[in-house]
Amino acid sequence: MSKDFYKILGVSRTSTEDEIRTAYRKLAHQFHPDKTGGDKVAEEKLKEFNEAYDVLKNKDKRAQYDKFGEAGPQFGRGPGGGQAGGFESGSPFEDIFDSFFGGQGGRGRSGAQAPTHGDDLEYRVTMTLREAAFGAKKKLKFPRHENCADCGGSGAAKGSSRETCKQCNGAGQVRVAQGFFSITRGCPICHGTGAVIRDPCKRCRGAGQVNSDRELSVDIPAGVDTGSRLSLRGEGEPGRNGGPRGDLYIRVEVQPDDVFERDGVNVQCRIPVSFAQVVLGATISVPTLDGKAELKIPAGTQSGTIFKLRGLGIADLRGYRRGDQLVEVQVETPSKLGNDQKELVRQFETLNDTKAYPLHKRFMDKIKESLGGGA
Ligand SMILES: [Zn+2]
Ligand SMILES: [Zn+2]
Repeated sequence: MSKDFYKILGVSRTSTEDEIRTAYRKLAHQFHPDKTGGDKVAEEKLKEFNEAYDVLKNKDKRAQYDKFGEAGPQFGRGPGGGQAGGFESGSPFEDIFDSFFGGQGGRGRSGAQAPTHGDDLEYRVTMTLREAAFGAKKKLKFPRHENCADCGGSGAAKGSSRETCKQCNGAGQVRVAQGFFSITRGCPICHGTGAVIRDPCKRCRGAGQVNSDRELSVDIPAGVDTGSRLSLRGEGEPGRNGGPRGDLYIRVEVQPDDVFERDGVNVQCRIPVSFAQVVLGATISVPTLDGKAELKIPAGTQSGTIFKLRGLGIADLRGYRRGDQLVEVQVETPSKLGNDQKELVRQFETLNDTKAYPLHKRFMDKIKESLGGGA
């Protein structure tokens, strides 16, 4: 069930980064909730576009996807060790829709020693339905690289510095003659970095970066659902040669709830009630996302009737009013009655008036003809 990210964005497999970005922007604008008025189908589409673009905009992810498809190795990082990172509170949060309109073009690189943007990271966060309804503060902890504090990311020991590779003159690539052709290869001396380190930093062994654990406390906004993706700018992997950090993407997964079923911003629950409660009318206590509420059931309520508790649903991610809670009452037929109770029901039945059962009467009227005809 691998998705075709190219097809989703309507581009070909040979499209350039620019063509992909243009196609994505066009679709994202077209399906932006402001334009579609929060249409669910459009929202799902937009999620698909985001997912496809997230992979195709990134050179490495795209190459991995081309090779393995969607089911390929995960794009995140494996666990790393190292010292604990700092703890931060609060967050410059933006939702899924904001992150792609800021114009983050120009990640191209020119020359091996030019500043490059760090890789993006992905973090999956699991939430209960209540947390999703009201928003929640979540503590994230994930492995990430940090620029080495000893060498400032250069990889060269104190008192020394990186030198431009003489083999490739800092280009990171060399041209190699092969038959009639000359082809470009990664430089074997500097491994494509364009620089050589004669005296490597002891702490990072010349890598310029060390493994670390990053801890962050983030406010997940009310209204998220499974598949919602939030981005934290500049919380991804560090860039190279002074380039900016990548971004951290938080992918939300909302767990199913025992009582409530979610339908967008609405929640629904089923409540068993007794025969006497629907016959005589009653006020029952109903669980809500906030706690509980009272629901008045009028006398003569039919089983399966759905009552609406306005504004007790889930907050809208875009700040519209809260959804509703729908309560379906289900009459529970008593299954284990004592003899006294059965006797009362028998008495009740003998006193029955057909006027009390208009549905039954209407039904009998409808089938009277066919029954009468068959006699
Ligand atoms: Zn170092
Ligand atoms: Zn080189």
